[in-house]
This record gives sequence, C-alpha cells and structure tokens, in this order.
Amino acid sequence: MTHIVVVGAGQAGSSLVVKLRKEGFTGPITLIGAEPFPPYQRPPLSKAYLLGETERERLFLRPARYYADADIALKLGVPASDIDLAARTLMVGDETICYDKLAITTGLDARRLPAEQGGALGNVHIVRTLEQVDALKPRLRAAGHLLVIGGGYIGLEAAAVARKLGLKVTLLEMADRILRRVACRETSDYFRTLHTAHGVDILEGVGLGRLIGDRDVSGAEHDDGVLPDIDIAIVGIGLSPRCEIAEKAGLAMENGVCVDETGRTSDPSVWAAGDCAAISYRGTRIRLESVQNAIEQAETVALNMMGPQISYDPKPWFWSDQYDVKLQIAGLSHGHDRVIVRPGSSEGSQSNWCYQGDLLLSVDAMNDPRAYMIGKRLIECGASPAPDLVADPSTQLKSLLS
Ligand code: FAD
Repeated sequence: MTHIVVVGAGQAGSSLVVKLRKEGFTGPITLIGAEPFPPYQRPPLSKAYLLGETERERLFLRPARYYADADIALKLGVPASDIDLAARTLMVGDETICYDKLAITTGLDARRLPAEQGGALGNVHIVRTLEQVDALKPRLRAAGHLLVIGGGYIGLEAAAVARKLGLKVTLLEMADRILRRVACRETSDYFRTLHTAHGVDILEGVGLGRLIGDRDVSGAEHDDGVLPDIDIAIVGIGLSPRCEIAEKAGLAMENGVCVDETGRTSDPSVWAAGDCAAISYRGTRIRLESVQNAIEQAETVALNMMGPQISYDPKPWFWSDQYDVKLQIAGLSHGHDRVIVRPGSSEGSQSNWCYQGDLLLSVDAMNDPRAYMIGKRLIECGASPAPDLVADPSTQLKSLLS
C-alpha cells in the first residue's frame, strides 16, 4: 500500500491529510510536526488569542481524536531530517521512515534579531508559534512600553493588541513606509493614520541600531537617537522559507521549494505546498504566505498525490484585523503603477484598486467587504474595469461585474 508522509503539521499539512482521507485514500498516512502540538491556526496568535479573546482550544484545526479516528499517524515534537530521495526515506530523531510519496509543508521561519543587535536580551519576542505567544502573553500584560521592530502585518497587529491592553507602543520601520513589502502606499497611509490615531508612535525610515539592557531589554539605539524606558520588544522583521531539509536533499530551490503547477517538486515522488512552496504566478516564481493558499494548494496536492494532475491556479487573498478595521486583500499589488482610492459607504471604509496600465492587479479593502468581494471576482476571472470608472464615485461597484 502507498505510504504518504507529510512533513510539517501546520495549516497546509493538516489540510493535505484531511483531504486525502475525504477523497477516499485508504493507505497509511504519517504527519510529522516539529512542534509538540497537533496542527493549529496561526492568525489568532497576533490578534484575538494575544488579546485574550480566543481560548487556546479553539486554535486547533481538528480535535486531537480526529487523527486517530481517521487513522493518521501523528508524530509530534521532533523535526524530520535527512530525506534520502533515492531510498525514499527520512529521519525523525533516530527513527527511519520509509515513504512512497512525500509532501513538504514546513512553512516559514521568523527572522530573529542577531545577538549583536540585542536579540538575545530577555523580553525580546517573536510571534510565530503557539509556544512563543504563550510566553509573550503574560509578559505583554505586565509591561508598560512595547517596542515593535518592523511594520509588517504581524508587527502592526501586535501593536494594535498592545494599545488595546493599554501599553505605550513605539514602532520602528526601517523602510520609508510601513507595509512596504505587501501593500500600496495608499494602504500604508491608511494604516499609519489608524495607528497614530490610536496612539502608536510610528517611526518610518528609521533603522534599529541595537536593543540595549542588562538582562532584559530596557531601551533601543536607532538611526535618530536613543529610545529609553522600553520593557518589552516584539521583532517582526520578516520571514524566510523553512526548507533546509528540502535543500539538503537536493530538491530544486528558488526562495522556497520549487514546484510545478501540480505541486510536484524536482523529484517525482515529492510534492510541496503552503508558505514554503515557490510557484509560478504571472510569469514569476513567488511564495504566497496566507491561510487560503495553504489550504487550496495543499488540497490540490492531495488530489494529485492520488492520481489526477490538476493545475493549481493561485487566487491570492489575505486578511488582517487591526482595532476595528478588517483589511481584506484580493490579488497581489506587486508591479502596480496606479492606485484608485474609493471611499466606502461607512465612515473610515475605503478600497484601494491597484492597476498596472489597464490591468487590475489587486484590491485592498478596509471595512469594505463589498469592494473586496467584487474586486476578488473581477481578478479571479481576469476582468479589469476601466480605472476611470472605478474612480468615479457615481459608479455602482456591482455594475463593474457586468
Ligand atoms: P505553517 O502553518 O507555519 O506550518 C508549518 C509547520 O511545519 C510548522 O508547525 C513547523 O513547525 C513545521 N515544520 C517545519 N520544519 C519541520 C520539520 N523539519 N519537520 C517537521 N515539521 C516541521 N494568514 C492569513 O491569510 N491571514 C492572517 O491574518 C494571518 N495572520 C497570521 C498571523 C501570524 C502570527 C502568523 C505567524 C501567520 C499569519 N498568517 C496569516 C499566515 C498563515 O498562518 C500561514 O500562511 C499558514 O499558516 C501557512 O501554512 P503552512 O502549513 O504552509 O505553514
């Protein structure tokens, strides 16, 4: 019987094994996870869970008994290593596991601040895993002044939580604007205004020199001077694909594990999905770092491991929650040269439509679910309404679909 082994028990790994069973795969399945927990969802870690509004149990994607009931062997707490592609084996601790088909769903690693920049001081935190957030939660509540290093989604979400908890918050962003890597300037402007209105002190274009302190962090030296009286720091300075085992095995890599449109790697018995998989999209190779991609790509890979060769057609979408604003993004804005800003129907709601020439690339919708839904449908079917039409406030968004 074909033995399917999945390395990485996160969102993609879990979606993959569940789909295999749903589609009637009856052979043995082994899901290997480096963390000591069954698969859980990460988005609440920087939002409701950090704030204390979601219970720990609710993070888990399936109840623990699901895996036993579905006859999926879970191996948790020890990372897999040393894939031997020729022998079709890998190691988990001292144990050798044989596979017929292998999927790599190992996600990302959060970049750490080097020790010479104060990364080894006490009370300097990362928000990536449940263990890290469990350690951070009580210390955040006990703190007075948080320094967030990095103005990406995770840094901004953590800043919003900390303000809700009543902390003073300072955020340092080395680039000229927050969210530079992931959103258009107009979306950065929206969130800068939002955070500033909630009392976050945002310093853009200001790099961290180093964190200072005896044992725990107590301050920071940065490009423009010294920030005193810090008693906790959250580092959100980027992510990198966690695929040492794929690289060491000799699989083709390009900022992640290279996969074709079916999710297969350069080895015909090995697939990859989720954050670590580098896929082709509009002529370039990219990785998508979102729950939606992890689920949909992993489910396609599950089907393809069973036989059919279905192409995965990425339809990127993403969300973020900050204060009472829900950001929903359809598409990818990279390469845009024009942005149409449309105010929404309620106060503070807005959508930013990013174009490259006449091609609609993405829609960033802030508390504007209608603009998001319509933008998403347009992008998914490759339709681009004329920018001037979108810019015209008298245009009914719904009419763009016809
Ligand atoms: P992961 O869920 O990270 O799972 C990978 C797993 O593989 C990990 O558990 C890891 O320990 C394990 N692993 C790694 N190496 C090995 C090994 N050698 N052996 C065994 N196991 C290994 N996305 C959104 O769409 N919206 C959001 O609002 C959002 N918010 C987020 C907030 C936070 C704080 C974080 C961290 C992420 C957020 N994301 C969000 C991103 C989303 O969670 C990821 O895109 C998604 O989890 C990717 O799934 P994955 O399975 O590829 O990776």
